[in-house]
Amino acid sequence: MLRISNKAKLVTNVLMKVLVSMLLGVSLMLSLLLLVYKPVYHVTYASTDLGYVQNKNALERSIENYLQYGDGDNVGYVILRESPEYTFELAKKDLETNDSDVYAYIKDQCDVYYKVYAVESDEEEVCTVETLAMAQEIVDEANEKQADYKNQAKLTICEKYEKEYETVSDVEVAVNDIIAPIKQKNLEVTRIYTAPSTGVVVSADILANLKSIKEELNFTLPLTDYVITSRYGWRQNGTEFHTGIDYAAPLGTPIHAAEDGIVTCAKWSGNYGYLVKIQHTGGYETYYAHCSRFAVSVGDEVKQGDIVSYVGSTGRSTGPHVHLEIRLDGKHMNPQDLL
Ligand SMILES: [Zn+2]
Repeated sequence: MLRISNKAKLVTNVLMKVLVSMLLGVSLMLSLLLLVYKPVYHVTYASTDLGYVQNKNALERSIENYLQYGDGDNVGYVILRESPEYTFELAKKDLETNDSDVYAYIKDQCDVYYKVYAVESDEEEVCTVETLAMAQEIVDEANEKQADYKNQAKLTICEKYEKEYETVSDVEVAVNDIIAPIKQKNLEVTRIYTAPSTGVVVSADILANLKSIKEELNFTLPLTDYVITSRYGWRQNGTEFHTGIDYAAPLGTPIHAAEDGIVTCAKWSGNYGYLVKIQHTGGYETYYAHCSRFAVSVGDEVKQGDIVSYVGSTGRSTGPHVHLEIRLDGKHMNPQDLL
């Protein structure tokens, strides 16, 4: 037993010595190795050689962070189609590593999708903006503007993710882009519009009452933008008397009541085409002729500035305009004396 034990001790001692000298040798070799070489990572992306990096962990963290947040405003999400591949290598000490170039290259391979808001008019995209607040402002203003039109578009905001996008910088520009086609559509509709004739009349009592009121009237123009194409008085040919003033404006332009009153006529009336008449106090009446369509009916009470009809070219007319006539107790007079 003792002999065996001594022998085992001897073997163990020898083994230990061998092990220690091996370890020493290995560490010596490693130290020598590290004097000449350094550990690096060789990076490839989609089989493209990107060179060497010193700090693989830092690079991976940067990429991870970029994929999560991107590095600009409005970033929705970032996609990197492939993963970079890293190979551990011992390279000579003087080998140049280029961590920042590798990161820049990989960043460049990412698809960045930006979050934007598209304003749609009847499901057709009109413009794109960066904030929901601006999109809402455009929709609100456009809705306010299209309130004048019979045929309106449904305006919606749609959240979108785009790699590239163009934004409008100005709310007004966007609103005009939305309104222009709506306006055009309404003009087309007015061309084929035929107004229903109405048999309604305003009672004689109401009219008599209105005429008996004596108050100072302050007529305003039925249009804001116009060109006067014919004034009150004898026409140049000397044979025809023009009983009102012609204000030319684009087809479909809203026509506003010149004063408060009651609508007494909103129907076809021969040369006048579609005609609106408003009875005011003190026996005054205003005529709005050649309309394309009506916004009021007989018996309606209107306030000064209310939309009563839209510019047209119905009846005896050579182009879109409103013929404004002012009458006192049935006799026409020069509107310019009252406007
Ligand atoms: Zn006229």
